[in-house]
Amino acid sequence: MSAKYPFAKSLVFDEPTIQRRIVELSGDIHRHYSGLVTETSPLVLVVVLNGAFMFAADLARALADRKLPVRMDFICVSSYQGGTHTTGEVRMLLDLRRGIQGQHVLMIEDIVDSAHTLDFLLKLFMTRSPASLKMASLLDKKAARRIPLRVDFVCFDCPPEFVIGYGLDFAERFRELRDIVVLKPEYYMKAPAAKL
Ligand code: IMP
Repeated sequence: MSAKYPFAKSLVFDEPTIQRRIVELSGDIHRHYSGLVTETSPLVLVVVLNGAFMFAADLARALADRKLPVRMDFICVSSYQGGTHTTGEVRMLLDLRRGIQGQHVLMIEDIVDSAHTLDFLLKLFMTRSPASLKMASLLDKKAARRIPLRVDFVCFDCPPEFVIGYGLDFAERFRELRDIVVLKPEYYMKAPAAKL
């Protein structure tokens, strides 16, 4: 671990494990939505940027392999502002391009932690009258929940530590890693983010 990722305390999920699980999860999603969505009324995959970009890309391709009709749209929200703990205040930085009224919507998140972000998004999107609204998340950090919400489709339960890689960042670093690892606490406790 230390040679490949000197900033990491431990490996949580490696690339083959992530990829295998995404293929499995795409099967669950396909089973749920086939019959509900069609070529003319596809499933709307709402990718929650920035963290979910890599997971969403792999999940969307796994759904394409199963021939599930989807269209993709993107939102960007921010709740951390560079640290490792949520501020509890979610800000919408980029909204959907198209409406979702009467459509089946699956939001794609990187991680559900306190669930402030998920709660904010569920409330916001319900006001737009979708036919259904569900959530898929790469990681579920249940121990950190402040709002008791259940995620519909989860790849992995996550330990109560700050993880990075495969889309997840610390101060906009480490998103590009193929694996998910725990960041050494000394990196966020001592080093200024810009010098990591
Ligand atoms: P929540 O609102 O507390 O559920 O946090 C959701 C957002 O916080 C996620 O979309 C991530 O961007 C970020 N986040 C939460 N935990 C972690 C972590 O362990 N590593 C990196 N980002 C995290």
